[in-house]
Amino acid sequence: MDGALDVLRRVFGYEAFRGEQQAIIEQVIGGGDALVLMPTGGGKSLCYQIPSLVREGTGVVISPLIALMQDQVDALTALGVRAGFLNSTQDLEERRAVEKSFLAGELDLLYLAPEALAGGESRTMRLLEKGTIALFAIDEAHCVAQWGHDFRPDYLALSMLHERWPDVPRIALTATATSRTHAEIASRLNLDDARHFVASFDRPNIRYRIAPKAEPRKQLLNLIRTEHDGEAGIVYCLSRASVEKIAEFLVSQGIAALPYHAGLDSRTRARNQARFLREDGLIIVATIAFGMGIDKPDVRFVAHLDLPKSVEGYYQETGRAGRDGLPSTAWLAYGLQDVVQQRKMIDGSEGDLAHRRMLAQHLDAMLALCETVDCRRSRLLAYFGQEGSGPCGNCDTCLEPPESWDGTVPAQKLLSTVLRLQRERGQKFGAGQSIDILLGRRTEKVSQYRHDELTVFGIGTDLSDPQWRGVVRQLLAQGLLAVEGEYGVLVLTDGSGPVLGGQRKVMMRREPERPAKSSGSSGR
Ligand code: ADP
Ligand code: ZN
Repeated sequence: MDGALDVLRRVFGYEAFRGEQQAIIEQVIGGGDALVLMPTGGGKSLCYQIPSLVREGTGVVISPLIALMQDQVDALTALGVRAGFLNSTQDLEERRAVEKSFLAGELDLLYLAPEALAGGESRTMRLLEKGTIALFAIDEAHCVAQWGHDFRPDYLALSMLHERWPDVPRIALTATATSRTHAEIASRLNLDDARHFVASFDRPNIRYRIAPKAEPRKQLLNLIRTEHDGEAGIVYCLSRASVEKIAEFLVSQGIAALPYHAGLDSRTRARNQARFLREDGLIIVATIAFGMGIDKPDVRFVAHLDLPKSVEGYYQETGRAGRDGLPSTAWLAYGLQDVVQQRKMIDGSEGDLAHRRMLAQHLDAMLALCETVDCRRSRLLAYFGQEGSGPCGNCDTCLEPPESWDGTVPAQKLLSTVLRLQRERGQKFGAGQSIDILLGRRTEKVSQYRHDELTVFGIGTDLSDPQWRGVVRQLLAQGLLAVEGEYGVLVLTDGSGPVLGGQRKVMMRREPERPAKSSGSSGR
């Protein structure tokens, strides 16, 4: 039997193990279970690939990333590793060939989609029972956690692996898990005796920046032109429509960009993904459908034009930048409309109250990260249970510390507008109407509802429209105001009272009057 280090050098061509790879690999080779939390790019694959080569039998890898299985198998085959996959994209003949080599003991690694094992009595289960299994690797293990942001019901069935194959070691891996998700993975997969390996989640080469959204296209263009000209990047948008529009916009500006979303036919998707991986300096504009398992080392920036739904999602998506360790940018533009839109989506989402409450908590954590005046990185790490790191010196708040200002009076003005509309008129409106009232604008809607007769009409002319939007956004993020319903109307919260009553001070993050400011100089 070859030693693990031997395999690393001979098969994969690397000199030494990284981080905890060796300890993890030894644990699994020795027949023990492992739960591995390691950031993207940390080198999780080797943690199950090497034990699969060293132990007798086939390493069975369960992964939801069907689209990538062919690539993974091709890459392994090129290294002389005998690998195959079984999933719904294959015809019967292809499946039979893979099944045959598995049964003949000719496969080192076999990739499966979780649905192949769901139900417990599938053709795949019967197949596995007839062969020799070296280990089970459960990739993207956070998918088993209902608390997580990417729950997949098929993963729940994986708890039976342990019952059916009590002597086969299991290794569960993920790049994203708060302590709560971490605990849920361990219990759902019955990993009671597993050793836990938790790598640092810090990605020091990624510079985190979150900017107020003003003119997102211009801001994006500015980021690309002044800092990442000709470099590879990913631009995330929430909807398919905005993916198309932004990709077209970039192309119209002479920037090489390709769209990617689930609404494109599979051939276009595969072609765009392949071009992004192989060509230099391409930008892919995508929904979050893009990127899981993508291993492109030189992605220099990840830009979000819409607010991610959770910190886990944000961390995972931004983690696709800079896998080669070189300086990279994670840039997010976020505005009031994002908050309103996401609250609406949560209110309108299917699922029970507990589920909606979970979504709301995920969003609140994301908002807190956006509005913090502290180091973004230490906030992010604290979210993943890795507290105690000081200011990083490589995020926007460290590099250009935001001023905070006492926003109590504007907060009171805004909240009392909401209060008066509700108390005196029995009405609820969105942010736009309250801001029009504060600015004393006699719009059609203001006149129609006689809002110019309210005592708060025109009391907010000391701030500009964007500043008021910033105030609303920060009140929402701090839970001092809420939006509800289909129209995203503003309503007071339990926290509003003390602000209105003057018992609570509200500190806010000062925003540049003209955003779209970048740390690079544009030369003009
Ligand atoms: P993850 O799955 O954790 O995101 P990968 O397993 O895809 O990460 O590894 C990321 C990159 O690092 C890959 O290109 C991989 O070949 C490389 N890599 C992993 N381990 C080592 C090592 N010990 N030495 C050199 N390169 C490594
Ligand atoms: Zn910092």
